[in-house]
Amino acid sequence: MSHNRTLLPRKRIALIAHDNKKAELIDWAYYNRGELSRHELFATGTTGKLIEEAIDRPVTKFLSGPLGGDQQIGAAVAEGRIDIIIFFWDPMASQPHDPDIKALLRLGVVWNIPMACNRASADFMLTSPLMQDEYDARQTDYGLYLTRTVS
Ligand code: PGA
Repeated sequence: MSHNRTLLPRKRIALIAHDNKKAELIDWAYYNRGELSRHELFATGTTGKLIEEAIDRPVTKFLSGPLGGDQQIGAAVAEGRIDIIIFFWDPMASQPHDPDIKALLRLGVVWNIPMACNRASADFMLTSPLMQDEYDARQTDYGLYLTRTVS
């Protein structure tokens, strides 16, 4: 039987930007600071510090990405503590923590989390009427997997 994960009107948003994308995410966050003030913000360490300074609002900060921040956000997604991911990853540079990035993007799909990986997607997401509403994110039924026979 499938089930849902309910996203409340006040969303828990995780923000992450690679170094070459930080200016773009900060600019986006500043432009959207009014809308973002309705939600609860989380971020990897450096991104979070910069956003806090830019929009003068508290952001719950995880470790810096290469030190485990992406993995912490992935764990929070799996545990139902993050509703939305806005992740401006750099398509032109490999990162020391590329496996962690892939892991986070994978968990976002596993748990059917709304994810925006560029500015246009983030604009569409933030202006969606669903941002103000309760939303039931339908979950894949992993029951067969969990009850499989392992010999
Ligand atoms: P940072 O981490 O916000 O601490 O720079 C982001 C990342 O590289 O994943």
